[in-house]
Amino acid sequence: MKYVLVTGGVVSGLGKGVTASSIGVVLKSCGLRVTSIKIDPYLNTDAGTMSPFEHGEVFVLDDGGEVDLDLGNYERFLDVTLTRDNNITTGKIYQARFYYENSSVLEKERKGDYLGKTVQVVPHITDAIKNWIESVASIPVDGKDGAADVCVIELGGTVGDIESMPFIEALRQLSFSVGKENFCLIHVSLVPVLGVVGEQKTKPTQHSVRELRALGLTPDLLACRSSQPIQENTKVKLSQFCHVPVANILNIHDVPNIWHIPLLLRNQNAHEAIIKQLNFYRQIMHFIISYYCMATS
Ligand code: ADP
Repeated sequence: MKYVLVTGGVVSGLGKGVTASSIGVVLKSCGLRVTSIKIDPYLNTDAGTMSPFEHGEVFVLDDGGEVDLDLGNYERFLDVTLTRDNNITTGKIYQARFYYENSSVLEKERKGDYLGKTVQVVPHITDAIKNWIESVASIPVDGKDGAADVCVIELGGTVGDIESMPFIEALRQLSFSVGKENFCLIHVSLVPVLGVVGEQKTKPTQHSVRELRALGLTPDLLACRSSQPIQENTKVKLSQFCHVPVANILNIHDVPNIWHIPLLLRNQNAHEAIIKQLNFYRQIMHFIISYYCMATS
């Protein structure tokens, strides 16, 4: 299984959900099977008890799971049917049972399953997060047999939030265990324009990338949100300071509706950068050959 992790920096509400769904669309259009996981670092077990004024409408899945709105985006963009387990929250990790586990971390502690050990965020909670991600990622969600080729994981919130630290640590460990060829990190950040000067500012992105790197994760691609398309010199500066090749700096400027975003990504060859990072050439060649055979038979 290969993973694409989407994180966000600078401010919340940048469009991580839409970006992650759109990345799924461009990968799917290359013939890859895509599944997705949304991580919400809050303590609620699910979105069902949260005020829609604060959190937006609750999205209800086919299995009755009450989840974050972004799961609705994934289902619509990718034409998949997700389960309640595709939405991980801190509450679920601590308290809820997952289909493959008999007990939650807290229940296991009461039963003495940890054999007298001190139960800690690292490694017990981080292990539970990794197990959950790896198990859910292997469940087919597109009606076909077998696990998907790639799992897009969106980490809610902003890098640096206290709540998301166990998830960041678990994802750092996951990236290390699956290896570089199986893990691609896309960091969504903001490039604001200062009114009078009209200059696109890279400093907020530099800082959020520094924060991410301090936590042990290095972005492979940057997805920069801005009001207007990003200028070439801004990309060069971001590349120099954030250690990301210019070709891997994507621009997601404001668009009239979110269905433009997969096209925006495709026009910037986002799929090529991700496929290169994840070394997906074999699967893509197989897809092209079978497509060619079908077209010529
Ligand atoms: P996050 O997951 O970072 O909280 P969302 O994906 O939920 O953000 O997006 C927040 C809002 O911004 C949504 O209403 C979405 O439609 C809008 N949005 C996201 N990207 C763009 C864009 N490029 N142009 C215009 N609106 C966008």
